[in-house]
Amino acid sequence: MPEEKKVPFKPIKSTKMMKGIMADYFKELNEASKTGDRKIAWCTSVGPAELLHALGFLVYYPENHGALLGATRMAMDLIPAANAIGYSPDICSYLTSDIGSYLKKSTPLERAFNMDGLPKPDVLVYNTNQCRDVKDWFNFYRDEFDVPCLGIDTPRGVHDVSTVYVDAVVEQIKGLVPTLEKAAGQTLDMDKFKSVVALSLKTTDLWKKVLRAATHAPSPLTFFDGTIHMGPAVVLRGTQPAVDYYETLTAELEERVGEGVAAIDGEEHRVYWDGMPVWGKLREHSEQFSTLKTCVVASTYCNSWIFEALDPDKPFEGMARAYTELFITRSEDFKESYLSRMIGDYGVNGVIFHDSKTCPNNSNNRYGMPERLRKKLGVPTLTIQGDLNDLRCYSEEQTRTNIEAFVEQLAER
Ligand code: SF4
Repeated sequence: MPEEKKVPFKPIKSTKMMKGIMADYFKELNEASKTGDRKIAWCTSVGPAELLHALGFLVYYPENHGALLGATRMAMDLIPAANAIGYSPDICSYLTSDIGSYLKKSTPLERAFNMDGLPKPDVLVYNTNQCRDVKDWFNFYRDEFDVPCLGIDTPRGVHDVSTVYVDAVVEQIKGLVPTLEKAAGQTLDMDKFKSVVALSLKTTDLWKKVLRAATHAPSPLTFFDGTIHMGPAVVLRGTQPAVDYYETLTAELEERVGEGVAAIDGEEHRVYWDGMPVWGKLREHSEQFSTLKTCVVASTYCNSWIFEALDPDKPFEGMARAYTELFITRSEDFKESYLSRMIGDYGVNGVIFHDSKTCPNNSNNRYGMPERLRKKLGVPTLTIQGDLNDLRCYSEEQTRTNIEAFVEQLAER
């Protein structure tokens, strides 16, 4: 068994800038919530954020809060509160953590960003492209805050994203506008909408560049870095600070590549991570892989915030296509080709599937995918049982042992 010793982390210098813009983002939300000067929309992570920004809303993402609850492990105290009012422990643990946080009036946003609590919504906007849970989640808050809750029902299991699908989603996005205009107290300015989409597209292009830097060997960043640095791509897409941030980060990573700086010294193995992170074990996983000289170079999760179809000239059509062609909405065959391509592009020699108990939507091991990839590409795979937030579903010992054995298997090959 490989000897375990602490491996120093190589801090990414741009992290300071990221913390600054995230702090500004939450400060602005807090101010708006207190004063009512700006309207606030709550939006699902792959919801129609560009439309909301164009209408002048500040946009808050409960899933980002869910990830924070997982990373701080506060989720473990909060999930039971949601279970107690009828939300099953088997459904999305972002949902149960977040509703638990609301019920118990306990949020890490207070300590981390000096907020006075969750920012109060004026409207709630979802897209079911990722799962049905988000709609139920937002409907809970509709009843609590007595504000409009509306959204888009996106087809799932899609193989080719044909114009039939896109047109149907375009109509739904357009259908949101009258209610959103009423909640915003302003009409939609198409020029502003186009410029927001342009900023979002720039963010996407830069975020893709960040992730693609890991195609280099040795990789200048890990999946664990990606989970932290994706914050602005999620909550600030469509804004200038996100663009500024990723310009800085790409420059730093290009410098690392140019100088041959590796995120993991002596990188020996390159692994792909499919599925959600285990937020409460991010540090442990990061350390274990570092110790094993294994770089988790790419993931389905971090790549899910690349929206290449956004089109400033056709903002409704571009958004409809971008938010319908996500990995999570696609057919099993599409997912298999996507993963095969990623394995090739990133020079991956092993794939880890995280079977996340409360998120079947992001657990791609359940319909024979690992077996098919092993057969087709000869790539070793490992499936880890766990969860994004609910650590009752996760065994530390078992996972550590399985990862060690998996890396030994990679070394033998
Ligand atoms: S995709 Fe999974 S983690 Fe995300 S909201 Fe839906 S059930 Fe929760």
